[in-house]
Formats: sequence, structure tokens, C-alpha cells
Amino acid sequence: MLGLMQEWPLLCHKILDHAGIQHPHREIVSRSIEGPIVRTTFSKVRTRSLALAQRLEREGYGVGDRIATLAWNTARHMEVWYGIMGMGGVYHTLNPRLFPEQIVWIMNHAQDKALFVDLTFLPLVEKIAPSVPTLRQVIVLTDQAHMPQTTLANAIAYEEWLAEADGDFEWKELDENAAAGMCYTSGTTGDPKGVVYSHRSNVLHAMMACMPDAMGISSRDVVLPVVPMFHANAWGLAQSGPMIGAKMVMPGGRMDGPAIYELLDTEKVTFTAAVPTVWLMLLQHLEETGKKLPYLRKVVIGGSACPRAMTRKFEQNYDVEVVHAWGMTEMSPLGSLCSIKPDYSGLEGDALLDLKEKQGHAPFGVEMKVTDDNGRAQPWDGKTFGRLKVRGPAVAGSYYGGAGSEQFDAEGWFDTGDVAHIDAHGYMQVTDRAKDVIKSGGEWISTIALENLAVGHPDVAEAAVIGIRHAKWDERPLLIVVRKPGKEVAGADLLQFMAGKVAKWWLPDDVAFVDAIPHTATGKIQKTRLREQFRDYRLP
Ligand code: ADP
Repeated sequence: MLGLMQEWPLLCHKILDHAGIQHPHREIVSRSIEGPIVRTTFSKVRTRSLALAQRLEREGYGVGDRIATLAWNTARHMEVWYGIMGMGGVYHTLNPRLFPEQIVWIMNHAQDKALFVDLTFLPLVEKIAPSVPTLRQVIVLTDQAHMPQTTLANAIAYEEWLAEADGDFEWKELDENAAAGMCYTSGTTGDPKGVVYSHRSNVLHAMMACMPDAMGISSRDVVLPVVPMFHANAWGLAQSGPMIGAKMVMPGGRMDGPAIYELLDTEKVTFTAAVPTVWLMLLQHLEETGKKLPYLRKVVIGGSACPRAMTRKFEQNYDVEVVHAWGMTEMSPLGSLCSIKPDYSGLEGDALLDLKEKQGHAPFGVEMKVTDDNGRAQPWDGKTFGRLKVRGPAVAGSYYGGAGSEQFDAEGWFDTGDVAHIDAHGYMQVTDRAKDVIKSGGEWISTIALENLAVGHPDVAEAAVIGIRHAKWDERPLLIVVRKPGKEVAGADLLQFMAGKVAKWWLPDDVAFVDAIPHTATGKIQKTRLREQFRDYRLP
């Protein structure tokens, strides 16, 4: 027997309809690429998205066509996303921080037919467009007055292009399982892999993200997604924000401390999200200027482990709640959030900071387990490490074109490539990437735990730990450190600082100081490069 409820496919453009009808005057404020702060509303963005869909269809684009974007977080980028999806197309967010050759590879793999690009990236597109034969049109996200000279024959200014449509368009009625968006993982090992989101997975993910123990946003919030739409969908905020009717503040191309502070302050932002690097810059700006954060209620920090010192500063110095989160492009991207269950209520001080070092528990829609190398599930005891595997309606079931099939098993579990443990209350803690974990005398050492500890030292700007070959133990940890400007802390002082806070045999055998640590396009420490750099390093 089937249920007798209505068929109402979960389509992304219904999110924008809802925002435009229920929250028509709620603002979207953007730092424009041209410079000034500009303001619009959900109602206006909806009208422009409809016009965009109409204009794309008139150009001959249709259902299933991949249409790329190379753009910062702005209201324009949002209306482009919804317009593409509402026309039946598939938005394909490109990460400008990748090498140009990688972007070319990705665009050719996805067979992108059109590209919406911010002014910032036009020189890049001039270089790569000739290598992408499927690309018919480049629409530059500006108006004619700001349109620069370009070598691209098929480039056009967005505003004038859009003005040729009146918005009298009906969104496409699609199957909710139709493709809505695409994003490639950065491929630090091997070629990038394409994740294809469906309308259904995006809508379910946005609902999940709004829930109180997940991001917990409401129509009364002012949401600043610093995390870019090109990096794992701005963690779903370009969908959950309109779904809930929150005011959106889009930072454009400026993510430095003063620029983010200005938006937090003038727009009275209550909720924001980004990777730790961004928050380092903001906290430094606050410390230098003595400014405070009177409006900010909550900050979600993820993408790489949130250092304990960062949580402490936000919570104790600025009275802002930190929610540590973990996820991946393959998970749309939210996988877990460290909000407080009743089992842990009442924790304070160091005990609370200990808990917040964990990446948190899975919301409805994410199943997780950790397994040993033979695939056997490990106990939830908060210490037994294993490979972290996940399942759910917003988790990738395969990659575009079939790459990486070994990461998916017959029961539908996706192997995240992370190593983690889960405690009795369901709180997961990532201890490493499987390829970064250090194996010393047959036991595993968590590089993330050591890095977190090292950056807690006041003179350390950044730290990374890698395994160095060792005759007796196989591998031993080396701590690589960037000092804060003008600081002279010695290796022995750092090891002294760390002693007693982890098992003795986890302590690094040596400390190397460097001027900079290499990062990937998504801001993570590039351990493959560090391992190359220190291949011949001899431990004392
Ligand atoms: P990439 O940066 O490789 O393109 P993602 O942005 O999807 O891809 O990165 C996902 C990975 O980032 C996770 O598998 C995990 O290793 C790491 N990660 C994300 N959040 C956290 C966190 N809070 N703590 C530690 N690692 C994290």
C-alpha cells in the first residue's frame, strides 16, 4: 500500500520561490566585485533568476547542460545558481584557486557549455577558454560600464545580457533526482573527481543544515557565508539561508580580517561560517584593534580541524559560540557538527574545550561508522580509530564518469579517507587523513592532535606534523612550524610545552622551522609536498 500524499518533488528552485514569497523583503547584501556594498532582496533575486533561466533557454541551453561559474559569494552568484537549476541545467562551481591546467581538465571532463565569471577571474578565463572546446559563451558578472577589454570573442556583460529577458518564465518541472549541481574534489592525489548533486539531495541537505543542532539558523539570523560557494557549496548556506529566510551577507572577493569585520559590524551579522585560516585573520585583526563582536552569536568552523585556542578565544574573549563541523564535497558537504547533546550539558572550561575539539555528531540524514582494515565496525568508545565511512541521501553514491569506485561498497557506504573514532554519545573525532596518519611501532599517531597542540603555543603561527622513516619504529613524527613574526621560540621549548598533554611516545622526535607551509586550493596543509620537502630529513 502506498501513501496518499501529494507528489511535490524536492526541487532547488522551490527554495527560492519560498524565500521570494514568504520573505520577499529580506535582504541579500553583497560586497560587489566592482567595489561598493550593494543590496537586493529575495523577491528581486527570484525575478532575476527566472529571467536568467528564460535567457539561457532562449540561447539554446537545456535540461542537463553543465554551466560553470567562477565567482565569489555575491547575490549575483546566487541568482545564477538558481537560474541554471530552474532551467534544468547543472551549475558547476569551479574553484579559482586550482591550477589553470586543473580547471581546464575539470571543465573538459564536465563538458561545460557556458561560464559565468567574476571580473577578478577574466584574465584566467582568457588563458584557459581556448582549451575548452565545448565552451560556447562567457558571461561576465558585471555591466557594460565596467566591462573590460577582452580577447574573448564570445564574452558578454551580464546585466545587458540579462536585461533582454523579462522573467516571464515557468521553472522546469523536473524529477527530484535530476542533477542540479556539480563540484570536483581538488584531487590532491590523482585526477579531480566530480560529485553530482541532485535537486533532492540539495533540498534535504539544506533542511538538515537548518536544524537547531546542526547550523541552527532562523529567519531572524543575519548569515555571512565566508566559505565560498565554490568550496563545497558554501556548506549549503546559499540554499539553507533562503530556505529559512535569513538575511544574507555575501563577502565577495575580500576575506581579510578588516573586510570581514566591517561586514560583521555594519550588517549586524549573527551567524557565520568559514575555515580556520579565515578566523585566524579575523582574530588577529580584533586583537590588534581591540574591537569586539557584539552581534555575532555563532560561528561554524570546519574544513580542517578547529584549533582549541581558536574556540577558546571566540567563546571566552568574544562570547561567540563555536560549532566545530566536519564534512566533505562528497557529503554536500555537512557530515557532523559539534553541538551539545544533553549527555554533555553543563561542561565548562577545559572539559568543554576538550569536547569542542571533536568534529561532533551526525545530524539526521548521515549515518556513520568506523571500521578496521578488514571492514569490521569498531566500538564507539572514543578511542578506537578506524576508517570513517558514511551513508545518506546527500552523500555521493558514485563519481561522475565512474572514477574512484573503490571508495563505495556494496552496502552503500562511502569511505571518506579520514581516520576517526566515535564516542559512546556519537561524537566523532577525526584523527587524520588515512594517508597522513603516522604508524609508529604498529600503533597510530594522530597528526591532527599534535598540530592542534602545537598551535596552542602563543609563538606558533602554523604547525604541521608528518611521519619520517625510522629504522626501529617505521615512522616517527616530525613537527614543522611557522613562527609568528618576531618570535624566536625554540624546538625544545615547544616539545616541553606539548609534554604531558599527549602520550609520551606521540611526542615529535624533532622540530623544523620554516617560513611557510604549503596549502592546497581549499586551504588545507599540503602534506604530500611537505613529505617531499623533508624526504631526506634525518631525525636526531
Ligand atoms: P578538498 O579540500 O580535498 O577538495 P573537501 O573540502 O571536501 O575536499 O575536504 C574534505 C576533507 O577535509 C575531509 O575528508 C577531512 O579530511 C577534512 N576536514 C573537513 N573538516 C574537518 C575538520 N573539522 N577537522 C578535520 N578535518 C576536516
